[in-house]
Amino acid sequence: MNPLEALSALRGAFPVLKPGHVWLAGAGPGDPGLLTLDALAGLAQADVVVHDALVDERVLALANPRAALEYAGKRGGKPSTVQADITKRLVELARENKRVLRLKGGDPCMFGRGGEEAVALAEAGIPYRFVPGVTAGMAALSAASIPATVRRVNQAVIFVAGHGSEGGEEFDWASLARTGQPIVLYMAMHRLDEIAGALMRGGLAGDTPAAAIAAATLPEQRIHVSSLENLASDLRAQHFEPPAIVVIGHIVAERERLLGLLADSEAAR
Ligand code: SAH
Repeated sequence: MNPLEALSALRGAFPVLKPGHVWLAGAGPGDPGLLTLDALAGLAQADVVVHDALVDERVLALANPRAALEYAGKRGGKPSTVQADITKRLVELARENKRVLRLKGGDPCMFGRGGEEAVALAEAGIPYRFVPGVTAGMAALSAASIPATVRRVNQAVIFVAGHGSEGGEEFDWASLARTGQPIVLYMAMHRLDEIAGALMRGGLAGDTPAAAIAAATLPEQRIHVSSLENLASDLRAQHFEPPAIVVIGHIVAERERLLGLLADSEAAR
């Protein structure tokens, strides 16, 4: 069975990526098992896959062998493709009547500028659709056995980017601290000292449990659990590298409990 036959068997019919159309799709956090069936249908049908740096090789390997792979990555601090050039390229490819899969890490619209690319496509009259993906924040929590919500612990989860738009106003971290709800930080490794300081000045206790998950779901995944006041220096000492998710809040303590229960049940077997 080829991927398209398998998809038809699973879903009755898979969505069709038409010539001249663009799918703005999420590839998930890395592990190909976390790809959606719709993203896989896009990979199997695309003439061109325009992907970023965070899309795993094993996911790209699922593309139709005839598909052209184009890298249009943007990584903090590394040479990057200008956003305007990426959208221009998507419009160009669609006008050449190609089936275009724009594939981004995680979810295309979670700190991924999928919304901006959609506006550019809409303005150019190019038909497109969003294909959601498993965002790194959710995947990292699962990978670390940290439930996103725990009854009587939290009623909300805050997803926030460590750095805002260039030249934008400084983010009001104290207002997040005051909610008392867990905070999941993306793109925060370079500013963690500053952010932790702002959260503590906003009233969050320094001993609030905090964890970092680097390369979540990938073979090189690393997890470190600490406290809000110590996490940044711990990560420096251990040479943690991006991409990483940081989570701050009492849900982090559930990890110890779950891992403890698991160890007890294994010992009892
Ligand atoms: N659209 C993506 C996020 C892009 S912003 C999504 O929905 O996941 C890039 C940030 O995502 C990185 O700086 C890092 O904080 C996070 N990230 C992406 N992949 C990750 C992974 N496999 N493990 C940990 N963090 C990851």
